[in-house]
Amino acid sequence: MRRLCAFCGSRVGAEPDFVAAARSLARSLVINGCGLVYGGGCGGMMGAVADAVLEAGGEVIGVVPAGLFGDEHVHTGLSELKEVGSMAERKALMTELSDGFVTLPGGLGTLDELFEMWAYAQIGLQSHPLGLLNTAGYYDHLLAFLDNTVANGYVEDRYRHLLIVDDHPDRLVQRLLR
Ligand code: AMP
Repeated sequence: MRRLCAFCGSRVGAEPDFVAAARSLARSLVINGCGLVYGGGCGGMMGAVADAVLEAGGEVIGVVPAGLFGDEHVHTGLSELKEVGSMAERKALMTELSDGFVTLPGGLGTLDELFEMWAYAQIGLQSHPLGLLNTAGYYDHLLAFLDNTVANGYVEDRYRHLLIVDDHPDRLVQRLLR
C-alpha cells in the first residue's frame, strides 16, 4: 500500500478551515487507496487527520518517540503504533514507511519536519515528493520568504520548486501520488 506521511500541528489552530481541510485531506487519502503515517498524537491537526482516515476505513501508522510527548497525547486507536528511541529515529522511520510527505498548517514541530525533509532532498538523502497544504493562505508569508531565499542566491530555484503547494486537499494528494 502507498502511504503519505503528514506533518501538522499538535493544536487545531485558529481557523475552523484548518481542521476541515485536514479531514478532507484524510478522506482523499482513503479514496486514493493511500495510508497515513504521522506523529501518533491524538490532539490538534494530527488527531483530526488520523481520526478522519480511521473513520473512512483507512490505515494509520503512528510513529512516536517513547516517553517524549507523554502517554496521554498518544492516539490509542491506530492501525499500528511504532515506538522509536529518538526524534531522529522517528523521522527516519517515517521516511522508510512512506512514499511522500504532506505538510498541513502547524507550528515549529511541523516546520522542523518539513524543512528537514526538504533539506535532505536537496542533498539527496531522501527523494519522496514534498507537498504543502496552504489552507486559507496560512503559508503565504513563508512562501514569499522562500522566494526571497532564491532571489538572494541561497536556494536554487529547482530545490525551491520541489515543494508542491496547493490549497485544495484532494488535488494536492493526487499531485503527490502521481
Ligand atoms: P507543532 O507544529 O509544533 O504543533 O508540532 C507538530 C509536529 O511535531 C507533528 O507533526 C509531530 O510529528 C510532532 N509533535 C509535536 N507535538 C507532538 C505530540 N504531542 N505528539 C506527537 N507528535 C508531536
